[in-house]
Amino acid sequence: MSLIVQKFGGSSVANNERVFNVANIITNTYNKGNDVVVVVSAQGDTTDDLIEKANSINPSASRREMDMLMSAGEQMSVALLAMAIEKMGYPVVSLLGWQAGFETTSTYSAARIKRVRTDRIKKELDKKNIVIVAGFQGLNRFDDITTLGRGGSDTSAVAIAAAMKADLCQIFTDVEGVFTADPRKVSNAVKLEVISYDEMLELATLGAQVLNNRSVEMAKKYDIELEVLSSMSQAPGTIVKENVNMEKMLISGVAKDCDVARISIIGAPDRPGIAFKIFSLLARKDINVDIILQSVGREGEKDIAFTVASSKGDEAVRVLSEHKAILGESARITKDDNVAKISIVGAGMESHAGVASTMFEALYDAQINIQMISTSEIKISVLIDKKDADRAVNTIHSKFFD
Ligand code: ASP
Ligand code: MG
Repeated sequence: MSLIVQKFGGSSVANNERVFNVANIITNTYNKGNDVVVVVSAQGDTTDDLIEKANSINPSASRREMDMLMSAGEQMSVALLAMAIEKMGYPVVSLLGWQAGFETTSTYSAARIKRVRTDRIKKELDKKNIVIVAGFQGLNRFDDITTLGRGGSDTSAVAIAAAMKADLCQIFTDVEGVFTADPRKVSNAVKLEVISYDEMLELATLGAQVLNNRSVEMAKKYDIELEVLSSMSQAPGTIVKENVNMEKMLISGVAKDCDVARISIIGAPDRPGIAFKIFSLLARKDINVDIILQSVGREGEKDIAFTVASSKGDEAVRVLSEHKAILGESARITKDDNVAKISIVGAGMESHAGVASTMFEALYDAQINIQMISTSEIKISVLIDKKDADRAVNTIHSKFFD
């Protein structure tokens, strides 16, 4: 007998038919003699609808009241799923975050899980109940409901798996697992059997929307093996774990991020302290910087360019413009939104030469110009023109996988 945590995303419980489909998966697992704890998200677009409803009454509603409202989506889905399981004749109980022992920090709408007191869940499992827990929510030290940030139910599931020392944590979604590229855009994208936490974290951060990246961080920290799979098919999913022992694939994925802006400072003075001053100004405003490029100095001047999230582009320009004195009055500051970041991720590149040149060759074949490059141990990113983004993903993917 094992303890299995199963998490179902909003699309997996979007309507009655899907609720019963999920109830089937759960009861099949229970029938095999396992203890089953289930975490569910709100049905379909419920969370978005609730936010819209809030905005129509008060667009600047407090975060506390937003959490009170948003958490209702999961309250509905746990009850409905439990009712379906009841109807099938199985013992089941639904629990809200606070009932399941989720204690969080007090930051509304972006709370972090401090711990999960599992006594109640254990008591229910002892009674042979299937336990259905509301994802995305907890209770802070003021006894107020908090939520964990959008997509937070994955983290709820991993937290329960960690606290209960579960044997397996399955994350059911509407795709069959983690793919080498977005399967809707790249026809020969393949499903990975296994991927390491670090690779998954890079892909999650790059916007591969399969797993919330905080959940992957937590799984890595507590060494919880995850399986990402579809609730709509029987196919085996992708395992996410620490050591991927099998013959390492050179590259595990190609990802695209169109949510970037490039800021350039042309003609800054070529003297010590300029980079320090620029990036500390941005850090003070909590503006995260990604790729950074500095030109070779010429005639006492140099250029510095970097990327930020699109939503931070205007603010970055404003902050720098307000401190023109530091940058030298003749420096020009520009912003370009028409860029995309394309990245390849793979633990195999640590031990193989030539991965970068293969990527660059693919872009050359497609006549796509590279504007910036950055690398880490397991990732290479390039900044290119946004209009070339999908073509770049396809050509790079073919180069590595065909
Ligand atoms: N229902 C919440 C959201 O849509 C949490 C989740 O789906 O994980 O963000
Ligand atoms: Mg959702």
